[in-house]
This record gives sequence, structure tokens and C-alpha cells, in this order.
Amino acid sequence: MSKESKTTGFSTLAVHAGVEPDPSTGAIMTPIYMTSTYVQEGIGKHKGYEYSRSSNPTRDALEAALAALEGGQHGLAFSSGLAAVDAVLMTLKPGDEVIAGDDLYGGTRRLFTTHYEPLGIRFHFVDTQNADNVTAVLNDRTRLVWVETPTNPLLRVTDISAVARALQGHPARLAVDNTFATPALQNPLKEGADIVMHSATKYLGGHSDVVMGALMTKDAQVDAELRTLQNNVGAVAGPMDCFLVLRGIKTLGIRVRQHCINGRAIAEWLAAHPKVDKVYWPGFADFPNHEVAARQMNDYGGMISFTLQDNSLSASKKVCESTQFFALAESLGGVESLIEHPALMTHASVPAEQRAQLGITDSLIRLSCGIEDPEDLISDLAQAIDA
Ligand SMILES: *Cc1c(COP(=O)(O)O)cnc(C)c1O
Repeated sequence: MSKESKTTGFSTLAVHAGVEPDPSTGAIMTPIYMTSTYVQEGIGKHKGYEYSRSSNPTRDALEAALAALEGGQHGLAFSSGLAAVDAVLMTLKPGDEVIAGDDLYGGTRRLFTTHYEPLGIRFHFVDTQNADNVTAVLNDRTRLVWVETPTNPLLRVTDISAVARALQGHPARLAVDNTFATPALQNPLKEGADIVMHSATKYLGGHSDVVMGALMTKDAQVDAELRTLQNNVGAVAGPMDCFLVLRGIKTLGIRVRQHCINGRAIAEWLAAHPKVDKVYWPGFADFPNHEVAARQMNDYGGMISFTLQDNSLSASKKVCESTQFFALAESLGGVESLIEHPALMTHASVPAEQRAQLGITDSLIRLSCGIEDPEDLISDLAQAIDA
């Protein structure tokens, strides 16, 4: 039976997919093949490897694991999440159009508007929480639809299968940034997406020690295009980084389980706190598109944003600077909890007017709940909010 059999459970796949004992020694852990080139017995006579930009055994193992986790056949590992986004955009030509969510990761939006827009690619930024907004701007020049769900930092939820249905019979490809949900909670390929993208820097790596990106697909044609670009451009993940992410994903199932337990406990505690105003967490029954999240996700993850009753900048800054276990830092998805102030940190590059439109107020605080004991995280937040 193949290790990647469809019925295999997620954590079993996370431990076993893509990895085989090393053929030369039996080493159970995939070796870190720190090599640029491979000796050939005769010209063109080699063991499948010629040069490490094109392929490397440590990267191959990771790419196979990544594909299996998303229910795809093909995985590609890039030097960063944005390098992975860039590879997808490089498949486009001037005159092509893209429909993208209006609440994207800041770096993705910056790449779209400062690099690809001047090259002649047209972007329509729409609220993808309602798939009708995608249909409204879809036309015969549309080649790509880019969706993030849940979004950063407002945890907005898009119905992936509804967007896929809106594109039925149309040549545009649907790409989903699945960084926040992780393949443990949501598999966009199964909902009809053509490409899944991850910042493996976050939950896949899971230990805040590596920057990496990934693309997964079921489609051999899409894979061939992206693989050619990966080799032509060369933004590949190095063997040491591939080893770290391969190690990270073995515990993805149990880590995400704890992230979800902590996320739920903290979201519910915050919602009941008299000094807290809004709590953004897709698990609440009255959260917009909650029923979509309940159907398309296995659980609601460890990302939460909230605002305070005292909506002054100084009050939210004080909370961010008063926690002990929640480290004040950008990024997310590691075993340790992080707290940050989107308007002043991760989303400072988003124009104030657009921040206001989206609801990224000066009072908004974002949490990445780690895997510590939830009681400790709650008492940490309690002392910071009451300070
Ligand atoms: C971090 C992040 C990215 C960018 O990935 P890098 O690894 O930082 O290049 C893209 N999308 C989301 C949702 C992210 O959180």
C-alpha cells in the first residue's frame, strides 16, 4: 500500500509522506544533501540528479511530503512564501487580468501592485467573502484568481468551492494562500482550487527558524509550468531549510490541534472580557461566513484579532508591550505565542484609508496562539489587559 493512500490520516501522512530510509545507510531521517552538483558515471549517465537548482534529494522528499499533505500530486519548495507567489504571477503576460482578495497579506499585495501592475497586468481587488464579487469582474482576460482564507489579520473567510464554481468553464486558475489554515485544517485542492500556496515560514516550519514558500497542485500542466519557472529563476529552498520544514511538518497535526485548543480558549475568554470590544475568530457562530468555515475547515486555528473598549492607540500599544509569554513580534505559526499591532507593524505599509476601510483600526491587536498551556496564555493576557 502506498504511504500516500487517500484514506491515510493526516498525522500519519505528516510523519511518513515523502520520506524513505536513506538507500545507502538506512538512516531514518532524510539526510541534508549539502551539494551543488552530482558526479556522473559517464556523460548524461547519472542517478537522476545533475545540479541542485534543478533538484536535490532533501528538497525532493519535502516536495513529495508537501504534495501529499494538500492532497495534490506535485509540490514545489521556494526560498520564501513571496518567491512562491511570484512564480505563480510569472506565468502571466501583459494584458492578463487577476482577481484578488482585498484583504491580502501585505507583501503579496505589494508584489502585485508595485511590480506586476506596472508590467501591464491588471488587478481587481474584491471582497471574496462573496463569490458574486468575483463573477462581477470576471472577463475573457482573467487568468488568475488569488484568494486568502482566513485572511490576515481580520480572519475573513472565503468559500473556496463557491469561487471555484464561479470559474467553472473559464480558463482562469484559482490559487489559494492556505498559510493561515494549514493543510491540517483546510485543503483548497479538494475544494476546487488549482494551486495552493504556503508561507512555510509559518505553521509548516512551525518553529520560527526558517523562511520558505511552497506551491502544490494536482495538475501536471500547472506543475510543469511552475517547475520550469522554479528552475529558470532559481528561487529554490536550500537543503538545510528543506530538512527543517520536513522535520516541522511531522508534528503539524499535533501542533495544530493545540493551536486550535488554545485559539478557542483565548477567543472565548476575550469575548467575555469587559475591556475587550470585538474579537475576530471564525469559530464564533455569529462570525461572518462561520458556516463556510465550519464546512471547509476542520477547526478554526490559532489566529485571533481583537480590539479594546478603550480604542486609543496607547491602550492597545500598552497591551502589546505588557505580555510575557506572548512575544511582541511579526510573523506567526510558531510553537511560541506572538502578539503584534497590525496598524503599526505588519500592516503599516497599507495606506491608512484602506486600513480604515478594512477595519484594521489603531486598536486592533493580533495574536498567534502558540502551543503553550492555555491557562498560562490567558493569565498573561489578563495581566496585560488589566495593566
Ligand atoms: C508570511 C506570509 C506570506 C509571505 O511569506 P514569506 O515566507 O514571508 O515570504 C504570504 N502569505 C501569508 C498569509 C503570510 O502570512
